[in-house]
Amino acid sequence: MTVAGKRRESGPERVTTRRLQDEDQQLEQSLRPTVWDDYVGQEKVKANLRVFIQGARARGEALDHLLFYGPPGLGKTTLAFIVASEMGVNIRVTSGPVIERQKDLAAILSSLQERDVLFIDEIHRLNPLVEESLYPAMEDYKLDLIIGQGPSAQAYPLKLPRFTLVGATTRAGLLTSPLLNRFGVVQRLDFYEEADLFKIVLRSAKILGVSIIEDGAWEIARRSRGTPRVANRLLRRVRDFAQVLGDGVITRQAAQSALERLEVDTKGFDEMDRRILQTIIEKFSGGPVGIETLAVAVGEEKETIEDVYEPFLIQLGYLARTPRGRTVTRLAFEHFRVSPPAGLQGELWRG
Ligand code: ADP
Repeated sequence: MTVAGKRRESGPERVTTRRLQDEDQQLEQSLRPTVWDDYVGQEKVKANLRVFIQGARARGEALDHLLFYGPPGLGKTTLAFIVASEMGVNIRVTSGPVIERQKDLAAILSSLQERDVLFIDEIHRLNPLVEESLYPAMEDYKLDLIIGQGPSAQAYPLKLPRFTLVGATTRAGLLTSPLLNRFGVVQRLDFYEEADLFKIVLRSAKILGVSIIEDGAWEIARRSRGTPRVANRLLRRVRDFAQVLGDGVITRQAAQSALERLEVDTKGFDEMDRRILQTIIEKFSGGPVGIETLAVAVGEEKETIEDVYEPFLIQLGYLARTPRGRTVTRLAFEHFRVSPPAGLQGELWRG
């Protein structure tokens, strides 16, 4: 099974990038939890899903369509796999931009069996025509397949198995309301607590056969931007440094010096996070600055800033979205040891 169509990030590779990279695919598969007990954190989401799954199983029905949203790397795909395995059904994995035509969707849907899970990643990027034919498929398990074009086009009704659509998106706000309304369950995934990331790092170290001291695992957890995928990636990079420069054991010291070399600072900020904050401070007097202007100034795509970088900076309280654009907060000035310009001591600057 392949996970097709994951968007690649532009620009140089970031060690804390949360989008899936090719080299990660194999690793992710070996580290991906397959049972609830290994799926750390997100307790509310887990508890809800367990109830829905139990209910559907008891009734012998397909599970309601589910939508998971939140920044990349927080475990949306993993959840879809666990849901399918708990339901005892197959999972088919695809992504919004990959389903180019209605015909492709018809082929996928008609290959499903009763109660199977269809996982569509980046569901906000579906072609509008494909999206429209998904509505009756989700609601009534039927699809009108259009063959031919223009006046000679004919509609062939297809009856589909009762399936469960699991959609994932980085931003639920980008979904059209007809699509959003057809999901029975919508769950937001939050950034993880350090204690959860600590557990994830220890579990991954065990699977990968890496020697790690608890202090070393905390150090990695703390700098993982609340994101399991980042935690796993940092673990692997730190292991490389520990093996080449030390005795292979990840101690706190080994983790600290490796992360310094990787330019991941104590907050987990990497080069692009710092560039975003510093650009707003230095070029725009702390903001507000429009997202388009900011994207050009830092040399990154607007969507990538919105999906990948901003959510974490906002969550930590370093950046704010205002009606007039992005603004840094007092914390950002403090982080870079710069004093806020006089006259900019409004709401956001108060402690
Ligand atoms: P998303 O689909 O949200 O981009 P994934 O489900 O692909 O994220 O998760 C990325 C990786 O992070 C997975 O391969 C898995 O190893 C790890 N991971 C994600 N969520 C968890 C979790 N709750 N517990 C343990 N590991 C997790």
